[in-house]
Amino acid sequence: MKKLIKHVEVLGVLRVVTGLRIGAGGASIEIGGLDNPILRHPLSKVPYVPGSSLKGKLRSLLEVNKFKLGRYSEPQGGICACGRCVVCWLFGCGRAQDATEPTRLIFRDCPIRKEDELRLKELLSDGVFYSEVKSEVTMDRATGKVGGGGPRNMDRIMAGTRLDFRLTIRVLEGDNENEMKEVLLHAFRILEKEGLGGSVSRGYGQVAFEDLSWDGEDISRLLHPESVKV
Ligand SMILES: [Zn+2]
Repeated sequence: MKKLIKHVEVLGVLRVVTGLRIGAGGASIEIGGLDNPILRHPLSKVPYVPGSSLKGKLRSLLEVNKFKLGRYSEPQGGICACGRCVVCWLFGCGRAQDATEPTRLIFRDCPIRKEDELRLKELLSDGVFYSEVKSEVTMDRATGKVGGGGPRNMDRIMAGTRLDFRLTIRVLEGDNENEMKEVLLHAFRILEKEGLGGSVSRGYGQVAFEDLSWDGEDISRLLHPESVKV
């Protein structure tokens, strides 16, 4: 096993640009009759974005984009387990019991920022849910009329809501921190272009990273170099 050198904290704000939907899944989770509920803290009912969603999405975006860096090879197709690419290096390789090295990235759940949580509770008449309910109808494309089954009510984290983003990185002997930074910034940029959660092709789930820091150092300008004012 390689020696652990240190932990790096990557902190920031994940701003919801268009309504974000990470479904609670399973009919057993019923909240006050809401159709299609999103994932929430079981006691407070405040929505959050699970670290697993971010990890899975960022991993698959890097796999699909075949991102390659320096001594690391290109990720293979599908869920990569080559052990030589940036995805396997940072996100872990293969099944946990076969892993020869610890996963470098530890994604934390992203809660709604406290001030936004309080604001939402105050502003929304049904503030106890901290979300918007978007009503959608299905159209029959042949007739141009509203399809059967009535409208669907889609629960979403509202546009403009800010979440606390936190990622802990294990830096092991032989790891290059600048390479880690480069891979992650690349993945964040693709995520901003693609989106997170369900129904992104229908306008849901656009997100943006703000106020990003790496071990206390501001790296927002590295994420969006074009936005730097001179
Ligand atoms: Zn790989």
